Amino acid sequence: MAPRILVLGAGINGLSSAVCVQQACPLAQVQLVAEHFSPDTTSDGAGGSWGPYLLGDTDQELILRLSEITYNHLLRLANSSLAGVVKAQKISGYHLYRNLPAGRQFWRHLVAGFRQLTDEEMKQYPLFDSGTFYTAVTVDVTPYLSWLMKRFKACGGTTRQARVDNIEEVAADFDIVINCTGLASRRLFNDDDVFPIRGQVWKKVKKPNPAVLFCFLPALTNGSRVEYLTVGGTSQVGDWNTRVDPADSAAIWNKAVTIFPMLKHATPLEVWAGLRPARKSLRLEMQAIETHGRSIKVIHNYGHSGSGITLHWGCALEVTAMVLEALGTEKEHIKRVVSRL
Ligand SMILES: Cc1cc2nc3c(=O)[nH]c(=O)nc-3n(C[C@H](O)[C@H](O)[C@H](O)COP(=O)(O)OP(=O)(O)OC[C@H]3O[C@@H](n4cnc5c(N)ncnc54)[C@H](O)[C@@H]3O)c2cc1C
Repeated sequence: MAPRILVLGAGINGLSSAVCVQQACPLAQVQLVAEHFSPDTTSDGAGGSWGPYLLGDTDQELILRLSEITYNHLLRLANSSLAGVVKAQKISGYHLYRNLPAGRQFWRHLVAGFRQLTDEEMKQYPLFDSGTFYTAVTVDVTPYLSWLMKRFKACGGTTRQARVDNIEEVAADFDIVINCTGLASRRLFNDDDVFPIRGQVWKKVKKPNPAVLFCFLPALTNGSRVEYLTVGGTSQVGDWNTRVDPADSAAIWNKAVTIFPMLKHATPLEVWAGLRPARKSLRLEMQAIETHGRSIKVIHNYGHSGSGITLHWGCALEVTAMVLEALGTEKEHIKRVVSRL
């Protein structure tokens, strides 16, 4: 019988896991169940920039492996004819810091042309004590999710909109469950290590001029997306408020214009707040659970915090390898299949 696989969650991690699993197991019946679909997920609100951020105690080697795979995947898209569909692009710019802890940029060899700013260049930014310049990659998440969803459905994937309050409700009809519900894993899988890091940003800001502006600072990011700038935002640990706070909106904008006067004539169009699904460390592992009198495998893929876009493709490949393992595929074959995705 064809394996029946349930993917819980339709953000960037659920959808990319679903697509990769389908490619690796063409006979599997894959269903995606989620309370919210794009454009209403946290992933849709993300700035879309590649760069490991706020990952707690997650092992550095693991972050490097997952983020490198994702970087190369996004770069391939940005260099392909699909770039204009998924809105992926390479982007170069300045990153400015105050008191940056040593070793924070352990991923520097993955991006192109990484260099420290010279003392002469730093004179342009008197509010900062160090800076770098490099080329990385960014994607507009909503068009990217829409492209993934088309691929998923074209391969026979089905979707169902539902809020799941207990895994027992949905597990009966499936052999494997892939859990990509982010913060909801706290309740669904009794995981007390999961917590929100609230982020509010000016999500759509009309550029004052066509020039690329790409500057990361602690607590202030100006990410240049394909269509608009994203300006902000906050990192409020433990705050569950998903509504926009007008005081945050004003504070972000005033700070941005003070630091970057060239934003003065930019037009802030849309503000957004969301919760980064944070955890003590990323959870990417398989667990056996007893339900309806049988044992099924749950593969967890959550806790990406401020790096869900940065890690998603690497995580989807790990999930795929675990699905193949659960289906009894031999190791060498798993390697071959996953390396082609
Ligand atoms: C302001 C801000 C800016 C960000 N910028 C970036 C960035 O530039 N780069 C980057 O790498 N990361 C960024 N992030 C982080 C990124 O948004 C997250 O890491 C990522 O979206 C997590 O994706 P996910 O698929 O795991 O979860 P989500 O996108 O939250 O999706 C979770 C899915 O699970 C479903 N679900 C939840 N509970 C249930 C339930 N009980 N029943 C059924 N379905 C359920 C939801 O409906 C949804 O479909 C940013 C985050 C914020 C807040």
